[in-house]
Amino acid sequence: MGCTPAVPTIIERNKLMEINKSSTLPDGLDPNNFRTITLSKIREVNHNTKFFTFNFNDPKSVLNMKISSCILFKANIGGKVVYRQYTPTTRPNTCGYLEVLIKYYPAGVMSKHIHNMKTGDQIEIKGPILKYDYQSNKFKNLALIAGGTGVTPMLQMIEEILFTADDKTKVTLLYANTSFADILIKHDLDKLAQKYSHQFKCYYTIDKYADTVEEEVWTGERGHITTSMLENLIPIPPSDDDESVMAMVCGPSGFMELICGDKTLDSKQGEVSGLLKQLGFTEKNVFKF
Ligand SMILES: Cc1cc2nc3c(=O)[nH]c(=O)nc-3n(C[C@H](O)[C@H](O)[C@H](O)COP(=O)(O)OP(=O)(O)OC[C@H]3O[C@@H](n4cnc5c(N)ncnc54)[C@H](O)[C@@H]3O)c2cc1C
Repeated sequence: MGCTPAVPTIIERNKLMEINKSSTLPDGLDPNNFRTITLSKIREVNHNTKFFTFNFNDPKSVLNMKISSCILFKANIGGKVVYRQYTPTTRPNTCGYLEVLIKYYPAGVMSKHIHNMKTGDQIEIKGPILKYDYQSNKFKNLALIAGGTGVTPMLQMIEEILFTADDKTKVTLLYANTSFADILIKHDLDKLAQKYSHQFKCYYTIDKYADTVEEEVWTGERGHITTSMLENLIPIPPSDDDESVMAMVCGPSGFMELICGDKTLDSKQGEVSGLLKQLGFTEKNVFKF
């Protein structure tokens, strides 16, 4: 089966680029070896974040990754080999390319390198790295709690569930950002929430406003996430049903500490603490990306 050229929004594009899963097209990724990909398109999202589209060498290659997975990027920067993980926002069966949403950090080695790349430049990738082996309908509810670029693995989960006709899991996303301008892919999330309103709810919270007008008109949640915000918005697990709710959390370190405790230094899940522990969540129903 051939490939279709890219179209503007994530949702439209992902729908178009989905190909028959039984296809025998070659894999674009190799979990054991680095492969070179070429930057083909850069799309600005906000003041510090951009979408980067990278083409596979073989345009018939398929991303072919299980949900939820990320990819390891490798670059030689200033004489040092640097590795960082990024989460594709393209569907697993996308053909010919992958897209990543990357935030620029002024002191960030890899993010700065990628933001400085020009179309035609190349970088190496290896993967996919499976982070969470999602099984349809295992939980009745998913509570996704994200901060900043932590929304990228959540988008993978949301699309996988909503685009799988027999997956009845109810999904709630609570997405925290500093300001309105920092909210990523809001348009795509809102479209999904509108189209799949019976199954997907999306809430935003911000704690700074550009001006008093923005502060007055903002209809979402306000401030840092609190226990009462969580109680009001996400399903809370009853003590007698382990499969009622799974909370998945992704964001910067301070955000993880607040919500559920950070992962351990060797990247293990570690104990659940923070707000989710106060609400009765345990290691059985929390996953830290
Ligand atoms: C599984 C996984 C998936 C990821 N997916 C994405 C993704 O889709 N998009 C994306 O943009 N990033 C993603 N990241 C984060 C990414 O891997 C890098 O950590 C990030 O781009 C910063 O790398 P860097 O080399 O630019 O910064 P580094 O050189 O590692 O850090 C330098 C400085 O940058 C700042 N900084 C770095 N990270 C953060 C942070 N999270 N919060 C606040 N300040 C920070 C700090 O000032 C830090 O001192 C993911 C991480 C993981 C583990």
